[in-house]
Amino acid sequence: MIVAKTLEEFIQARQALPHQESIGFVPTMGALHQGHISLVEHSVAKCSHTIVSIFVNPTQFNNPQDLATYPRTLEADCALLEKSGVDIAFAPRVIDIYPTPDNRVFDLGGLDSYGEGPRRPGHFNGVAQVVTRLFDIVKPQHAFFGEKDFQQVAIIKYFTRNLNYPIEIVQCPILREDDGLAKSSRNTLLTPAQREAAPHIYKCLKKAVEYAATMSPAEVIAAVTGEIDANPELETEYIELVDADTLRPIAAWSDAENVQLWCAVYARPVRLIDNIKIR
Ligand code: AMP
Repeated sequence: MIVAKTLEEFIQARQALPHQESIGFVPTMGALHQGHISLVEHSVAKCSHTIVSIFVNPTQFNNPQDLATYPRTLEADCALLEKSGVDIAFAPRVIDIYPTPDNRVFDLGGLDSYGEGPRRPGHFNGVAQVVTRLFDIVKPQHAFFGEKDFQQVAIIKYFTRNLNYPIEIVQCPILREDDGLAKSSRNTLLTPAQREAAPHIYKCLKKAVEYAATMSPAEVIAAVTGEIDANPELETEYIELVDADTLRPIAAWSDAENVQLWCAVYARPVRLIDNIKIR
C-alpha cells in the first residue's frame, strides 16, 4: 500500500494504477474503525483497486471545538488499511485540497433543509466541496458511503447526478457495536459513563419501529425523545420521521412510502447521530 501525503505523491501513485481497471474510493476523516473498514471491504470485493482518503475536512465543521478535538490516528489507520487490501491511502494536507479558499455554493436540491442541515449550517455544502474535490483528484468509478450518515449519502447521490459525475455511489449499511451503538470515530471521545449510556439511543430507535404500528408520527417522536432523555447522560437535539426518498418530515404515515427515523443526541460535548428504517 502506498501512503500519499501530498497531492503530488497521490497523482504519481494514481497514475501507476492500470488504466482499464475499476477504481473504488472510500472517503473518510480517519480515526478508522470497523464501520469504515466495512466500506473498504465492499470496495475491495467489487473493484480491482481501492483508494481510501483520510482528510479531516475543515469546511464541513461548523463548530471549531469539534474540528480541534476530532481524533487523528494516521499511523493506526494506515496499518488497518494495509491489512484490508487498500492500494493507496491518500492523507493530504489542507493546502492540497484547498490551494485557495473554496467559495463554491452547491445546489443540494433542498435535501439539506431538514435533519442535520439547519442544525449544522454550511455542513453539507462543505461535504459537497470536499467530495467533489476528492472525486476530481481520485477519479474513481465507484465511491462507497455509509448509511450511518443517511442524509449525507442522499445528498452525495444528488449532486453526483446533478453534476454528471460518472461515478456509482454505493450505499453501505450501518455497522454497530455488539451493544447496538453505531460505530463512530466520536465514540472514543465519550467518558466511560457516556459510553455505557450511548447504546440506549439505538434501543429507543428500535422501540420506535414498534410504536409506529399504533402511534402517530408525532406520538412516536414524543415517546422516543422522552425515553432517550430519561437517561441523564443523553440529551436529544432532534428526532425526525422523514420520507426516506425526499428527506421531508412526515406528518402522517400516508405521507411517504419509505420512512426513516433519524436523530442527533448529545452526550455533551459529543454529538452522536443515528437512524433506523421504520418501513
Ligand atoms: P467519517 O470518517 O465519519 O467521515 O466517515 C466516513 C464514511 O464512513 C462515511 O461514508 C460514513 O457514513 C461511514 N461510516 C462511519 N461510521 C459507519 C458505521 N458505523 N457503519 C457504516 N459506515 C460508517
